[in-house]
Amino acid sequence: MTTMATPTRTQLLIGGSWQDASDGAFYDDRNPATGALLAEVAQASRADLDAAVGSARKAFDNGKWATMAASRRAKILYKMAQLIGERAKDLALLEVRDNGKAISTAKGEMSAIVDCFEFYAGATTKNFGESLPPPLPTYLATTVREPAGVVGAIVPWNFPLLLASWKVAPALAAGCTVVLKPAPSTPLTAIELGKIALEAGVPEGVLNVVTGSGRELGAWLVEHPAVDKIAFTGSTATGRLVAASAAQSLKRVTLELGGKSPSLVFDDAILDAAVAGALYGIYYNAGQACDARSRILVQAGIYDDFVASFVEKSRKLKVGNPEDPATQVGAITLREQHEKIKAYCDIGIAEGAKVLLGGRAPDDLEQALNDGMFWSPTAFEASNDHRVAREEIFGPVATLVRFETEAEAVALANDSDYGLSASVWSQNIGRANRVARGIRTGTVAINTPYAIFPGIPFGGFKHSGYGRELGMETMRAYTETKSVLTFIGEKPMNPFGV
Ligand code: NAD
Repeated sequence: MTTMATPTRTQLLIGGSWQDASDGAFYDDRNPATGALLAEVAQASRADLDAAVGSARKAFDNGKWATMAASRRAKILYKMAQLIGERAKDLALLEVRDNGKAISTAKGEMSAIVDCFEFYAGATTKNFGESLPPPLPTYLATTVREPAGVVGAIVPWNFPLLLASWKVAPALAAGCTVVLKPAPSTPLTAIELGKIALEAGVPEGVLNVVTGSGRELGAWLVEHPAVDKIAFTGSTATGRLVAASAAQSLKRVTLELGGKSPSLVFDDAILDAAVAGALYGIYYNAGQACDARSRILVQAGIYDDFVASFVEKSRKLKVGNPEDPATQVGAITLREQHEKIKAYCDIGIAEGAKVLLGGRAPDDLEQALNDGMFWSPTAFEASNDHRVAREEIFGPVATLVRFETEAEAVALANDSDYGLSASVWSQNIGRANRVARGIRTGTVAINTPYAIFPGIPFGGFKHSGYGRELGMETMRAYTETKSVLTFIGEKPMNPFGV
């Protein structure tokens, strides 16, 4: 593990062996908090991608992984969980350096990744088919769940190892083979996952890891005829391209896309809890979270107190050095993302939304002055029609919108193209559940910002995508149902009577 914290030149994992890109190409991967060069990352060519898919295809078609006793596959996944747990500290630090997130956030993710692998290790032996009521007395009818085949797993940069695990763990559990493509800017923990998989006993070719700096690598994977399923997490715009491309070869697709999720705060909420929860909901991971509760809808009776407390508490958040355990808001991962956040803040101001907090990069931060990318926690008082309240900014930018009635709150929550997540803050259990039922999002969390756990399906309505991750039903997305019908009559059948 000595090379892990300071990797220099990384390689591609193809067919169980680590190799340079076929044409020797690589690109620079930098620490967004400091601008320091972290690694030279192999730049996979089309030939490398073909080789990775070819090795995944071979490893699937030879049947060894797909038909291995489920309990044996489970043991390998448990071993992966164990190795990730043992290396959590190093992996968290690597993630911090690659992504810029606060170390406290990264540590929480590592523990969630261990839980994810353990969950799907357990699920491996529970991938049940069904015994069905026979259509005729002389029939036995069952279903079996067979692995879907070769999976292309494409992940974004905001939770690099976590989101890779959400795909790799259930895919391996189901008996699929995988080509994992991390985001160009955050490939390092995916490479470590490849090493861990080999060490845990995942057979060669079952997990391949390809890295590259451009968008074409993902596109090649989606269009590749030897890939059976694409599990994609990323923006809604890219999701549309993925769905359109995958349709050509009728690939199975799951899409986990963008969000503009609301926190709904009612007059009868516990104010301190609602403020703390709403604040975490938007500012954790510097707002670079698909489920960031970026729209905070607050009822009129509590609005002024909520805003005062929200602003006061937000000012106390520690922004800066991601490796400092006290930091709560780390760096912005990409330069273009930093520019996008700035552009949206300018749009908010130009549209007439009122800046309650932030709206700019911190000007007193040593690392920011030193080429690091940071953004101050920002809040706008806005209308739900403002662009800052409608479009995914993907940064630490909240919009606060006032409402009067429960019906208005639900209407505002649903007045969005997205439908990923929501939080409801109310002490009235009837109201909270009524509102939860009315909101069209894949998840509703009542009186908590935390809603993502292994075993609890996570995914979107509307433009937030389709399919669910993290649940038992996710296993189904990596399988095909096969119906097996057996004739058990005493007298052999003779349909034509000839
Ligand atoms: P992105 O769509 O730009 O990229 C995502 C991944 O797709 C990257 O690995 C990228 O290289 C690859 N890619 C780019 N073009 C491609 C193409 N044409 N075909 C196939 N793959 C392609 O997204 P991003 O900026 O990396 O991530 C941020 C987005 O991800 C946000 O919109 C966020 O909401 C979303 N997200 C969703 C979830 C969820 O679970 N719903 C979780 C995290 C992030």
